[in-house]
Amino acid sequence: MAQPHDPPHFVVQLHDATTLHFDLRLEIDGVLRSWAVPKGPSLDPAVRRLAVPVADHDLEAAEFEGVHEGSRGTGAKIIWDEGTVEILRDDPTHLSFKLDGQKLQGGFALTRTGDDSWILIKMRDEFARRGSDIVGAQPNSVRSGRTWQDVARDE
Ligand code: MN
Repeated sequence: MAQPHDPPHFVVQLHDATTLHFDLRLEIDGVLRSWAVPKGPSLDPAVRRLAVPVADHDLEAAEFEGVHEGSRGTGAKIIWDEGTVEILRDDPTHLSFKLDGQKLQGGFALTRTGDDSWILIKMRDEFARRGSDIVGAQPNSVRSGRTWQDVARDE
């Protein structure tokens, strides 16, 4: 079993399953709280991104880059970003946190808007970038430099 990290870790994986999506996972109390974010995170505070809550994952899930067998799509998954997370507030309907990753930095907030929907936004701080498209501009794995298409082809 993977041990909890101090400070805790976060990961954002890009996953080609039934549809291409990003998996946002935050280490909280020894597990990875997880959301599927279809369009991925944004550094622009004006952009609201749907985040669908999914089951907590074991800490090992943050280490996976490769091809998930038996999933739809190619199953390819890359570690799109990773680093440390500081939880600022953790309420049933609101979570705010500070990331220190390679692509994502500064404050973010998740707000529950329904049974299966939360909204992910970038908080306004020195790391906010109006009009930026971090997902389009930096599609590669921070571990290997590969794209998800490279992983799908190579494995
Ligand atoms: Mn996924």
